[in-house]
Amino acid sequence: MSHLADQVLPEPTAGDLPQAAELDRALRDASPAQVIATALQTVGREQLAVVSSFGTESAALLKVMADVDAAIPVVFLDTGWLFEETLAYRDILIAKLGLRDVRSIKPLEQTLSREDPDRELWFSDPDACCRIRKVEPLARALAPFRGWINGRKRFQGGLRAAIAVVEQDGARLKFNPFANVSREQIEAIYRLAELPPHPLAASGYLSVGCMPCTSRTSPDEDVRAGRWRGRAKTECGIHTVKMS
Ligand code: SF4
Repeated sequence: MSHLADQVLPEPTAGDLPQAAELDRALRDASPAQVIATALQTVGREQLAVVSSFGTESAALLKVMADVDAAIPVVFLDTGWLFEETLAYRDILIAKLGLRDVRSIKPLEQTLSREDPDRELWFSDPDACCRIRKVEPLARALAPFRGWINGRKRFQGGLRAAIAVVEQDGARLKFNPFANVSREQIEAIYRLAELPPHPLAASGYLSVGCMPCTSRTSPDEDVRAGRWRGRAKTECGIHTVKMS
């Protein structure tokens, strides 16, 4: 179990932010750039963050964001189990897109040494592993923000098949500018902007997360079929646990 001290975080207040449902209605058919611009206008740059895994489709969201405002803070969760290729890809995209505020967030050392000293938690209890390496670090990283943006798409299926464009996430607004976007539209963004692919994409990884929990995907499988293969788990928790 994690110590309470690791989890007690200052919470932003909703203040005068509009309701998520109201924004969702207004942005239901908006383009990703319009959603990001509205998020910026609504929340303000100092209190808005993009959360990116720098995975196989991440460059599309980061490109649209950079075109709106390259100084929006980008939170990247460096779990301690990422592929070297992902860390290299982060640096390639920072340079290519001129991202001005990428924050690489790591789990607390004392939490890792207490709860995962042998680095085997991913095998024995992957939910607990995701909690200490992703969910808790992200909750800490998002503490100063009143809104966050992520790159989930409905076409990814599973729990993502019905996501709204704007959701309430505790006291924060959560923007999903790519909710309506198709795989073909993502590919078009890559093509038009000449975005480099993730270094592992050519090896058959359609979705890339942590090393122990990522496998290659065959052409007839869903994009995320290679994540936590053989387990019922399909999400790490950052989108299923309220970030408050
Ligand atoms: S994806 Fe796997 S290694 Fe990464 S935090 Fe979750 S369980 Fe741990």
